[in-house]
Amino acid sequence: MGAAVKLESSVERFVGAPRKMLIDGKWVEAASGKTFETPNPATGQVLARVAAGDAEDVDRAVRAARRAFDEGSWARMAPAQREGILLRIADLIEKHADELAQLETLDNGKPFTESRHVDIPAAAGTFRYYAGWITKIYGETNPSDPAFFNFTLREPVGVCGQIIPWNFPLLMCAWKLGPSLACGNTSILKPAEQTPLTALRLGELLLEAGVPPGVVNIVPGFGETAGAALVRHPMVDKIAFTGSTEVGKEIHRETAATLKRVSLELGGKSPNIVFSDADTDAAVQGALLGVFFNAGQVCCAGTRLFVEQKLHDKFAEKLAQTAGGMQQGDPFDPATRVGPLVSKEQLDRVTGYLAAGKKEGAKPLIGGERNTEKGLEKGWFVKPTVFTGVKNDMKIAREEIFGPVVSVIPFKDENDAVLQGNATNYGLAAGVWTRDVSKAHRVARAIRAGTVWVNCYNVFDVVSPFGGYKQSGYGRELSSYALDLYTQAKSVWIKV
Ligand code: NDP
Repeated sequence: MGAAVKLESSVERFVGAPRKMLIDGKWVEAASGKTFETPNPATGQVLARVAAGDAEDVDRAVRAARRAFDEGSWARMAPAQREGILLRIADLIEKHADELAQLETLDNGKPFTESRHVDIPAAAGTFRYYAGWITKIYGETNPSDPAFFNFTLREPVGVCGQIIPWNFPLLMCAWKLGPSLACGNTSILKPAEQTPLTALRLGELLLEAGVPPGVVNIVPGFGETAGAALVRHPMVDKIAFTGSTEVGKEIHRETAATLKRVSLELGGKSPNIVFSDADTDAAVQGALLGVFFNAGQVCCAGTRLFVEQKLHDKFAEKLAQTAGGMQQGDPFDPATRVGPLVSKEQLDRVTGYLAAGKKEGAKPLIGGERNTEKGLEKGWFVKPTVFTGVKNDMKIAREEIFGPVVSVIPFKDENDAVLQGNATNYGLAAGVWTRDVSKAHRVARAIRAGTVWVNCYNVFDVVSPFGGYKQSGYGRELSSYALDLYTQAKSVWIKV
């Protein structure tokens, strides 16, 4: 599988020899000498071996980042020069887009069309957007007592530990590094153990673009060791984390000891609400995109699909029928819409939820099991699944599944839709489908979530903030809001 695609020679280099980590501008082995395997989710075969960073490597990386920050080679570089470097990073990502997309698909399993036309261009666009901010981060002159001149400087936070997940590996690097570099910080980035390859290739491109040694350090490894060491390290000023709510809470607790700044982008159980006056065909397509994009491994996936009672049965049937037409298989086949899950662990987790749903009485209209068709049996594929007969208190309606699984749930009226939609500990995103513009506005305001899409779903743009309400986390990524995560105000008083 995937063999029909002619891989870029640089991809072959990358998946062949063991990959090292980036510390202080140099590619080095783990201090322990240990490595771990990263497999191809479509075939289960080992793709590459990667240096397994641990507390000692994290300590070396943090000290390099601290030194680089304190020496000021980055924060005090002329803004226009830093802007030039970020623009070069964007250009290099675009220049190597085919190679990066191939690496992403091999390591994560997502369809190549998504890697090549969504993730990689968006990563380049994120660096380009934040390059533009570097010359526009202003302080203020404040109307103080005229006996003084008071102004604010907007300074970088310092050394940032950035821990990212496996669902959008390169894009998450860009969401973290774009704003932190723009604001003059230095970083230690820990990619997910399942998908370290594009982060490591990005490290090479960062050096080529002119990022000075120590400004970005990339330490692959495991969460409980490398990730935890980063969270605890006293020389780290800020942790930016994307991942599970469970680990987010752990980070919240652990960082209390050193009072680091923290931003958390966590899980979701997003309501996607379809009223009977909606354009049904558009809503079906939106529901599909909302839950089967990236095989459902998306924090804002619209996994609780609320459909107005009188439309419910017809809508569920239509959704199941359309989902049944989506091709699942080789991620390098341009016709493939749904790839494998990222890991065996994720496969077990998702099939566990399918079993729990069926046990509690939910009925799969389609799917409901692993896909072991010929050619897919060694990969970690789960059939796109549409459940009906789901009650809000069932496990599959409460917990984040992170797979291609949607629950279709009826509601009576607008009030009921909002009540059921908000009946979750999460608050990351929501969708509303209606032709009634007043209703759209009312529901968008009533839903407690960081993003609400009306008559669309999963629309992202670097200009718009993204983040959670409730247990979906705090802090906003993207847009000018992310600059608040990576700067702090200093008030300076001059006696006149
Ligand atoms: P995790 O939250 O465990 O992983 C996210 C990142 O955090 C990874 O880099 C991971 O390292 C790291 N990490 C894990 N434990 C710690 C720790 N104690 N201290 C510091 N860093 C840590 O998610 P999983 O990969 O285990 O996925 C489990 C579930 O989380 C999914 O099923 C999904 O529900 C949710 N999830 C949500 C995401 C989102 O976008 N909001 C993204 C990914 C998962 P390692 O490399 O070892 O995994």
